[in-house]
Amino acid sequence: MIKLTRPPEPAILCENAENWTKAMLELVEKYDGYNKIPSSEKEAALRNYRHDDIRNALRDSSFGKCAFCEGIPAETGFPEVEHFHPKSIYTDKAFEWTNLLYSCKACNNSKLNHDTQQEPIINPYDLDPGNCFTYTDIMMEAKAGVNHVIADKTISVCGLSAKRLFSARGAILVNFRAFEADLREALDDFYLARSTQNKMKRAAKINDALCTIEELAKPSAKLSNYCSYLLENSATYQEAKRRLQEYTDENM
Ligand SMILES: [Zn+2]
Repeated sequence: MIKLTRPPEPAILCENAENWTKAMLELVEKYDGYNKIPSSEKEAALRNYRHDDIRNALRDSSFGKCAFCEGIPAETGFPEVEHFHPKSIYTDKAFEWTNLLYSCKACNNSKLNHDTQQEPIINPYDLDPGNCFTYTDIMMEAKAGVNHVIADKTISVCGLSAKRLFSARGAILVNFRAFEADLREALDDFYLARSTQNKMKRAAKINDALCTIEELAKPSAKLSNYCSYLLENSATYQEAKRRLQEYTDENM
């Protein structure tokens, strides 16, 4: 989970949200409750929140990833437009732009009708999740601190430490360790270099290896919160950053 920035509301929603909401609330009244609306009528009244313009704007702002687990919804199933505050409880927010997120089916199903107002979870458009989570191998955990309770609730409600994410995190971890080994090799070569020219060449190699490993933690990369954690906790990465900085300072 990473911080997201909400783009401007799509025109289709600006123009129609009020009428769509009104029609939906009329159905709730007519059938005396959201859950009693016949499914065909409910679907007809609701389908517009998944309009392509809405889905695409959310997808782009979410870097094509699920706003909760940072998986690629297209890889794990059909991507969904998710209601942060569930539409079954907060039906008046069914077409509210700030209530919509891009999500994978698994997170959406796990979250289901969880009452986010009674028991808040992290909305990545509102709260920066960057400092909320930590990991033990491939398990996500809430970090100690002011956001511990909400982070812990987010993990359990969205299933962010569920088995479904193990293999994706495992694959990232394997990749990360391989890049880290390349970085270690580049560092060791750098320490062995004697001539100015060799030192320069090997510093460039460290720089290349750093760029490669940092790609994994870019916001557009899969599970980038996990990769950022791995980078922050990699002694080799920290050493390489420090050495390269020192070398650059000495040779400016
Ligand atoms: Zn997800």
